[in-house]
Amino acid sequence: MKPATLNPNPMPAGSPHLEVRDLRVHYDGIHALHGVSFQVPRGQIVTLIGANGAGKTSILRALSGLTPYTGSILFEGRDLQRVPAHRIVGLGMAHVPEGRAIFGNLTVQENLRLATWQRRDREAIESDFERVLTTFPRLRERLRQPAGTLSGGEQQMLAVGRALMSRASLLLLDEPSMGMSPRLVQELFAIIQDINRTGTTILLVEQNANQALRIASRAYVLETGRITLSGTGPELLGDPRVKEAYLGTAATGKGANRNPPP
Ligand code: ATP
Repeated sequence: MKPATLNPNPMPAGSPHLEVRDLRVHYDGIHALHGVSFQVPRGQIVTLIGANGAGKTSILRALSGLTPYTGSILFEGRDLQRVPAHRIVGLGMAHVPEGRAIFGNLTVQENLRLATWQRRDREAIESDFERVLTTFPRLRERLRQPAGTLSGGEQQMLAVGRALMSRASLLLLDEPSMGMSPRLVQELFAIIQDINRTGTTILLVEQNANQALRIASRAYVLETGRITLSGTGPELLGDPRVKEAYLGTAATGKGANRNPPP
């Protein structure tokens, strides 16, 4: 008989990596989220699309412990309600915020190293560092350059690279393509898919609905704090309401589910 092994992952097989139930956020009387529920299966790319002000950033900030909320957020089966933001990073959820939040006066290398402050596994840190530089060759060329002198697209890559250095199992990306040239956007989305192929689950918030839906296995449309539509990426790409509101194309096609799962 095989000896019993300890399972480091307390989740039963098949449970979602992330489960959000009835999430509500309000700021001084403004209700930003009115009971949002969705799931992110392990190893997949899930996208949330929606217009300005729909509440996408509020969802990511609640997930990372940066905004108070009601409802429940279960990460690998664990309720995050009372877990502080810095511990959530340690559990394996990394947030790449809109606007990147990199340290402009520090070099590229220093920004990447800072992300490992909670880690003690030196050898693994070196191999992750190498992996990030292989993923983003532009960062390798600019290692000793102050991060503030990078182009916007390069800063975005640095922000994603930094999240990878924290050994995240779930990456939250807030509008990563914002302000990038079309060529860089293509490059970035290909890299997001590569990162996902190595086993990292991805929750992608995007206004670039076309690109996001192409790489997502599941997608949700958020309108004024509520999920109004859900389906697979291809279903939503073909949905006339999505085409009209988010893709800027004529309304033809069918397929998405107007009644998203609870
Ligand atoms: P965008 O794409 O423009 O970033 P979003 O979908 O990410 O939009 P949120 O940033 O989550 O939307 O904002 C949702 C709503 O909450 C908006 O009406 C916004 O004005 C409001 N809001 C967000 N942050 C705050 C805050 N700190 N104080 C007050 N209201 C806020």
